[in-house]
Amino acid sequence: MQAASPEETHRLGVRLGGLLQPGDFVGLIGDLGAGKTHLVRGVAEGAQVPHSEVASPTFAIVYPYSGRIPLYHADLYRIADEDELYATGFFDLVGSGGAVLVEWLDRVPGAAPREYLRITLRPTAEDARELQAEAFGARSEALLAAWLP
Ligand code: ADP
Ligand code: MG
Repeated sequence: MQAASPEETHRLGVRLGGLLQPGDFVGLIGDLGAGKTHLVRGVAEGAQVPHSEVASPTFAIVYPYSGRIPLYHADLYRIADEDELYATGFFDLVGSGGAVLVEWLDRVPGAAPREYLRITLRPTAEDARELQAEAFGARSEALLAAWLP
């Protein structure tokens, strides 16, 4: 998928947020500034999270949001390895029934569940991004099929 502007990425996020169900897991891959957090803001809006709740998880590892369903927004940028991730309680939250969005999922081998939707963001121009989505597992395939324009 192509997003020719930040607004387009936001709109893709809003639509994804409207489709998420408890237990869904979305991994976001891409360099700093690729637009991972930007997409998550759209997802939060689409999941009816109040604007005031949404931040970039800079200091904490996981932010819980309460929208139409519980949403957890995590950023693994500063996590060294799987042991450190265990210590943050990440895996307890992941299993607690909300939908989960994880930036930098590729930084920690073992952080990804067996079934999830992986979205890779790549800049193609200053204001344009390519979003590549890959589904692992039946539920993620259904989610992706519903999300695709
Ligand atoms: P990340 O979380 O991947 O580090 P951010 O979402 O925090 O990245 O920042 C992305 C930056 O890129 C923002 O400043 C945003 O305005 C800018 N940007 C430019 N074009 C786009 C686009 N098409 N989609 C998303 N963000 C974009
Ligand atoms: Mg970010």
